[in-house]
Amino acid sequence: MKVSPVLPVYARADVSFVEGDGCRLRDAGGRRYLDFAAGIAVVGLGHCHPAPLEAARAQLERLWHVSNLYWTEPMAELADRLSARFGGAQAFFCNSGAEANEAAIKFARKATGRSGIVALEGSFHGRTAGALSATGQPGKKEAFEPLVPGISFARLNDDESLVAAARPNTGMILLEPVQGEGGVHPATPEFLQAARLLADELGALLVFDEVQTGLGRTGTFFCFEQAGVRPDLVTLAKGLANGLPIGALLVADGVARGFEPGDHASTFGGNPVCCAAACAVVDAIDDALLANVVDRGSQLTTALARFGEVRGAGLLIGVDVDRPASEVVADCLEAGLLTTAAGPRTLRLTPPLVVTADEVDEALAILDRVL
Ligand code: PLP
Repeated sequence: MKVSPVLPVYARADVSFVEGDGCRLRDAGGRRYLDFAAGIAVVGLGHCHPAPLEAARAQLERLWHVSNLYWTEPMAELADRLSARFGGAQAFFCNSGAEANEAAIKFARKATGRSGIVALEGSFHGRTAGALSATGQPGKKEAFEPLVPGISFARLNDDESLVAAARPNTGMILLEPVQGEGGVHPATPEFLQAARLLADELGALLVFDEVQTGLGRTGTFFCFEQAGVRPDLVTLAKGLANGLPIGALLVADGVARGFEPGDHASTFGGNPVCCAAACAVVDAIDDALLANVVDRGSQLTTALARFGEVRGAGLLIGVDVDRPASEVVADCLEAGLLTTAAGPRTLRLTPPLVVTADEVDEALAILDRVL
């Protein structure tokens, strides 16, 4: 048998996609699928949405790359837009969620002078060394130890364990407002408020990893808006450029100075084509789109309750199933519906934010047959 020239870090499904349009995909054999994976919560506006497509195309024809030794208009405009949405912040741009979290870890160390991190069991922050160290899933880490030291883990929605995990050198508390990869487990507003209080008491930075929950996915631009808790740092990636690679660290105005020239960098970070697409994405996340996320989210969660426990927010939804989630994902694919697994028994649905009521009904009809 011919060995694939691609390293096998993914258990890839045996399908190759060639075209996408909205919530639909077409494979190399011409078969059409309904996409409720959206590239793992990435393609928020749907495949080939005209706004980021036109913005990226126009930028491709003008300028691709000059590095961060200079300014480009799309990068500056994206920083402006994200600052406005946050209510005052400075941005560092990189290429992925893991990189955004690495930047947050380094920023917190520099700003507080402390290297300790409090993170959560069941969390996921990425596969690079620092982000993996803060990931609370031992199975993903064991083969790669020793990793970054000084990270203690608390239980989600357990204020006492959060306090118990704090150390004198804690410089940051890092958490996802909804744990995505770990099985779609939302943090309660009370827990996020407790984390805010603890960070203030410790003089540590509160960091929300909104790589999966941000950019409208949970019904507000940032998920934290729903809890009324403002973090010091936020990391974004996934949906930011609707599928082009980009990540961002936002640092709230008023947070102690962290980075100075030379402290951190990324050759491709802030790439003009990705930033132009991202500006169009941010502009498209308006009240009407967010209302659709809330409405389609409740349409889905109400109907999914017949299959098992449903968790999540907006269009980041997990439903517990009675057999391995990977089997259900494979059966759904066979039936023409893309989904993902989040943990061993949780089926995750993250359709594009533009999904229609009819498309939700169509997905539910397929799930009825599969489950
Ligand atoms: N943080 C969260 C919450 C994520 O869900 C992910 C990816 O799933 C990451 C970080 C890592 O992002 P990336 O794969 O872009 O490095």
